Amino acid sequence: AFLSVEGLDGSGKGTQIERLSDALDRWGFEVVHTREPGGTPIGEKIREILLDRENTGMTDVTEALLYAASRAQHVREKILPAVKEGKVVLCDRFLDSSVAYQGGGRNLGIDKVLEINAPAVDGTLPDLTVYLDIDHRESLRRRCAASEPDRLEMEAESFHARVENGYHELIARNPERFVVVDAAKTREEIAAEIQEKVLARLME
Ligand code: C5P
Repeated sequence: AFLSVEGLDGSGKGTQIERLSDALDRWGFEVVHTREPGGTPIGEKIREILLDRENTGMTDVTEALLYAASRAQHVREKILPAVKEGKVVLCDRFLDSSVAYQGGGRNLGIDKVLEINAPAVDGTLPDLTVYLDIDHRESLRRRCAASEPDRLEMEAESFHARVENGYHELIARNPERFVVVDAAKTREEIAAEIQEKVLARLME
């Protein structure tokens, strides 16, 4: 199975992925925990280019293509082989992040970003996507509390408002794939809710 976790920066995605990964492990699944951008040696190099604070002149299309390139490698080198071996791939961000950040945040548009990513994913989509639902203003508050923001975390509030809208558009388009969890709840409540819903889906 292929699971992804999505959300704005500060949604608690990292913590919840750790918790879900531990739970899957306890249930006896073999878990491959991976992330985007990154996930492979080539993808991690692309991640460095994307998150470099000095890369202020990167064009929006360049950014979208780099994410797609990282994803193309990730799908073929890591995700598909693991799924074929019967493992559960747990991915921190996938195509939905590009649609929300580059399509919404950067204003490239949802359809343009899907088009750019078509050869990268070649039909591979998560079986289930957990979305940690946080308001973009709360995301901003939590990001400001963090120490060294990366290139993308330094973006304006309006950028994150467009990212949030992008995610909501995706959820409306793919209601059966998304599990939406209120990220304002406690860590414990969120972890329990995610585990219940993921287990139910894996048992289908
Ligand atoms: O989730 P993580 O912190 O690893 O993401 C790194 C940065 O890349 C974040 O600031 C996130 O907002 C950004 N990002 C992006 N477009 C994507 C994926 C991630 O702008 N498609």
